[in-house]
Amino acid sequence: MKVTKSDFIISAVKPEQYPIDGLPEIGLAGRSNVGKSSLINTLINRKNLARTSQRPGKTQTLNFYLINEILYFVDVPGYGFAKVSKKERESWGKMIETYLTDRDQLKAVIQIVDLRHSPSNDDVVMYDWLKHYEIPVIVVATKSDKIPKGKWGKHLKVVSQTLKIEPTDKLVTFSSHTGQGKEEVWSAIKSYL
Ligand code: GDP
Repeated sequence: MKVTKSDFIISAVKPEQYPIDGLPEIGLAGRSNVGKSSLINTLINRKNLARTSQRPGKTQTLNFYLINEILYFVDVPGYGFAKVSKKERESWGKMIETYLTDRDQLKAVIQIVDLRHSPSNDDVVMYDWLKHYEIPVIVVATKSDKIPKGKWGKHLKVVSQTLKIEPTDKLVTFSSHTGQGKEEVWSAIKSYL
């Protein structure tokens, strides 16, 4: 997809703040530092609209980006900070749960994992959770530039088997450094709009 317009709309912490225009939404979730902001910026051809490497302890919000005035990307705060307090984890969980379970406009979630490593326990919990609520998932295995192409298949198999990816979900390799997989991610997104 050719993105010609992308705007940050709102940081929301509660449903009253979500956009009300009814456009379809694609959520983006991943462990902190996995490359989620870089993925968003690459998909929309922007250098730094989605802020990269958000620090733990910062206010955790759902960030809505309007793309080409036809859909929203909803940046879900990164999970898996060892350091955040129990209280912060609980409020994260509640906010995310409210959004992911009650939002009719949410069409699919892009779950980002690192192609180099076996998905973490947090990644597995997140995927299971999305499947429990029957949310379609596009698993994006990022940082493909860090692995020789001949080894992608082996790594994809580990990702697929560890998450137990359902046959209806998609799994694509991606790199925000080379742009590899960008069109494939866009066509996966489009299939859910
Ligand atoms: P976030 O915390 O998930 O939003 O992660 P960021 O997008 O801030 O990326 C975290 C780190 O990974 C940064 O140092 C990025 O430069 C790096 N990174 C992100 N995507 C890629 C990628 O595709 N390839 C490589 N080699 N590094 C990446």
